[in-house]
Amino acid sequence: MSNVWEEARLNLGKAAKIINLEPELVNRLSTPMRFTEFTIPVRLDNGGKELFTAYRSLHQDATGPTKDGTRIRPGLTVEEIKALSLFMSIKHAVADIPAGGGKGGIVADPSKLSDSEYERLVRGFIRRLQPKGAMVDVPGADIGTDARAMAWMLDEYEQISGFHSPAAINDKPAALGGSLGGHEATGWGVAQCVHLAAQGVNLAQGRVAIQGFGQVGSITALTLEEKGYQIIAVSDVFGAVVNKSGLNIKALSEHVAKTGQVAGFSGGTALESSILELDCDILVPAAVQDVITEANAGRIKATLLVEAANAPISPPADLILLKAGKTIVPDVVANCGGAIVCDFERTQGLSNDYWTIQQVKEKLLIRMDRAYSETLSLAKELNVPMRQAAWAKALTKIRTAMLWRGWN
Ligand code: NAD
Repeated sequence: MSNVWEEARLNLGKAAKIINLEPELVNRLSTPMRFTEFTIPVRLDNGGKELFTAYRSLHQDATGPTKDGTRIRPGLTVEEIKALSLFMSIKHAVADIPAGGGKGGIVADPSKLSDSEYERLVRGFIRRLQPKGAMVDVPGADIGTDARAMAWMLDEYEQISGFHSPAAINDKPAALGGSLGGHEATGWGVAQCVHLAAQGVNLAQGRVAIQGFGQVGSITALTLEEKGYQIIAVSDVFGAVVNKSGLNIKALSEHVAKTGQVAGFSGGTALESSILELDCDILVPAAVQDVITEANAGRIKATLLVEAANAPISPPADLILLKAGKTIVPDVVANCGGAIVCDFERTQGLSNDYWTIQQVKEKLLIRMDRAYSETLSLAKELNVPMRQAAWAKALTKIRTAMLWRGWN
C-alpha cells in the first residue's frame, strides 16, 4: 500500500492531461484541501491508557460536502488515507453524487481491543475530530468499522451537538436512520457492471471467478448467479473452491456462514492454483489491492476484469492486460454502488423520507447504468481505456464546479 498515493496521483495526472486541466487546478487536486492528524487517548480495561493516532483527509469540497469511510487497521498510513480521499472525490463525481471526497482512519488493531475499549476508541474519534455535520463532512464505515461503530459515532455526535442529525454519519443501522440495501449496494453495483460489460464483449452468462467472498464478493456472486452466470470458482484468504459446472452460491454462502471459509464446500473441489490465473471468461478481484501485478498479469486468462476491490491491478499490470486486449472495468466505476447508497442514506436522513429496499435497488441500478454507459461512451470518444475515461469524466465535473466557484 506504500505507493498508493503515487498511484492515485498518476491516474490524476494522466486524466488531467486528457482534459487539459488547468495547472492551478492540477496543483490543488494533487493534495488534500485539509488533512488532520490527531490523537485519541483511550482508557484500557486494565486501567492503563493508550494513545492512538487518527486522520481525516478532505480532498476537495467544490462538488459538495466531503463524505466517506473511516478505516481502522494497524499499519494505516497517511498516504493511504490521502489516496482514498482522492478516490472518493473521483468516485462521487463518476456516479454524479454531489459530494467531495473524504476519508478518515485510526491506526489500531480492532481484534486486540475489547468491545468496550473499541467503543471508547470510536467515540473518541468523533470527540477529537468534531465533525461539523451533514452539510460539511460525513464520516462513514470502511475496513475495521461496521454499523455498530457508526451507531456509536452518530450517538457521540448527537450527544455533543445536542440535536438529532441522522444525515451526519453514514452506514449506521436502519433503526437510527441508515438506508436499507447498504450492505448489498456495492455487490449489486459490481454485478450490474459485470453484466453490462459482459454484454458488450459477448460474454453474457459467461464463466466467472471471484477472488474474495466477503460482503462484496458474496453479493456479487449471488446476484450474478441469479442473472444466469456460472460462478465456477471463488476464494477467500484461507483457500479456494472450483466447480467447472458452476458452484451453487446460495449453498456456498450457507457453508461459509457455518464454517467461516469457502474451503471444505461439498459442492466443489479445492483449487490449488491461483484463482486469478484460472481459465474463465470474467474475473472479479473482490479482496484486496495490488493482487494483479507485473508478476502474474501475463498469465490472466479472463477476457473481462471487473475491479470490485480498490486498486487490485497495479499500473504496470494494467498496461500488460490492455495490450493483451482485455477489457477492464475500473474500481471507481465498478464499486461505486456503496458510495451511491451512502448518498441515498444522507438524502433520506435529510428529508425524513425512508425508502423500501426495492426503491433503493431500483434507484441504484439506474445510477450504475448511467455511470457505466457515460464512462464507456467517453472512453470510445477519447479512444482511451475506461479507467482514464472515468477519471477524465470525474475531473471534468470537479473542474466545472471549481471554475464556477472562481477557484482557478
Ligand atoms: P470483506 O472483509 O467483507 O471481504 C474480503 C474478502 O476477501 C474475504 O473473503 C477475505 O477472506 C478475502 N481476502 C482477503 N485477503 C485475501 C487474499 N489475499 N486473497 C484472497 N482473498 C482474500 O471486504 P469487502 O467489504 O467485501 O471488500 C472487499 C474489497 O472491496 C476491499 O478491497 C474493499 O476496499 C473494496 N470495497 C468495498 C466496498 C464495500 O462497500 N464493502 C466498497 C468499495 C470497495
